[in-house]
Amino acid sequence: MKFAITSKGDSNSNGLMHRIKTYLLDFELTYDEEEPDIVVSVGGDGTLLYAFHRYSSRLDKTAFVGVHTGHLGFYADWVPEEIEKLVIAIAKTPFQVVEYPLLEVIIRYRSGGRESNYLALNESTVKGLEATLVMDVEIGGQHFECFRGDGLCVSTPSGSTAYNKALGGAIIHPSFSALQLTEIASINNRVFRTIGSPLLLPKHHTCMLKPVKQTDFYITIDHLTLLHKDVKSIQYRVSDKKIRFARFRPFPFWKRVHDSFISNE
Ligand code: NAP
Repeated sequence: MKFAITSKGDSNSNGLMHRIKTYLLDFELTYDEEEPDIVVSVGGDGTLLYAFHRYSSRLDKTAFVGVHTGHLGFYADWVPEEIEKLVIAIAKTPFQVVEYPLLEVIIRYRSGGRESNYLALNESTVKGLEATLVMDVEIGGQHFECFRGDGLCVSTPSGSTAYNKALGGAIIHPSFSALQLTEIASINNRVFRTIGSPLLLPKHHTCMLKPVKQTDFYITIDHLTLLHKDVKSIQYRVSDKKIRFARFRPFPFWKRVHDSFISNE
C-alpha cells in the first residue's frame, strides 16, 4: 500500500509525521506523495482541508485519516498517543471506508462562456467587495428571494460544525447527501426581506446565486479565498464525488459533536 503524510508544519506535528513515516516504512509500506492510497493528515481539521484539496483529483483512489495535535477535530480524530495503534491498523488491516458528501461549486462568468469548477469539503461563501451583497437566490430553478446582507454560506454536512455553526446553521449528520444555505447578516426590514432561516437542500436540488448589480465577489472554498470578477452566476449542488475516510474503529459523529462542543470528559 502507498501512503503520504501531510503536516500542519509546527514542530510537534512534524515530529509526529516523521515517526509515523518511519513506522509505516518499517512495515514495508511505500511512501508516495503523488499517488497515495491513504493520506495521514497530522495537525487539525484545517490540515485535513489542505490534504483534501491537494488530492482532490484522486478522491476515488485515496482515503484520508486525521491525527490531531491540537484539540479534538471532526476530521482529525486520532490522538498522538495512539499512533502506534493507528500505524498497525493501517499496515495490517484492510480498512473500512466511510464516505462524506461534498459541495460542487460552478462559477460562470459574463464574458466568453467561461466557468470555474470547485469542490468544497466544508463550505463556500460569497461576499461583496465593499457594498452590501445583493443576490437573487434561485432554488430548484425557481426564484426564491433577493438577498441583501454581508454574504451567503453554503456548507456540506461535515462542514456544518464549522463556519455554518457560527452562523446559526443546523448540525447535519454526514450520512445526509445535502447542502445547507445560511445567511451572513441579512438586511431585514419593511422593504427588504429574506427567509432568515437556514435552508437544507437535498441532493437533487440546486441553488443558484445571480448577482443583481455587482459583478465582483470574494468567493471562499474552504480555507481558500479568491476574488472572482465578471461573475454571471454561482451554482451550488451536492457533488457526485465523495471524500473517503479510512475508519479503523467506531467514532460516532454525535460523540465527536458532544466532545468538541459540550465536554470531552
Ligand atoms: P482557521 O481560521 O485557521 O480555523 C478555523 C477553525 O475551524 C479551526 O479551529 C478549525 O479546526 C475549525 N474547523 C475546520 N473545519 C471544521 C469542521 N468541519 N468542523 C468543526 N471545526 C472545523 O481556518 P482554516 O484552518 O484554514 O479552516 C478554514 C475553515 O475555517 C473554513 O472552512 C471555515 O469553516 C472556518 N471558518 C470559520 C469561521 C467561524 O467559525 N466564524 C469563520 C471563517 C472560517 P482546527 O483547529 O482543528 O484546524
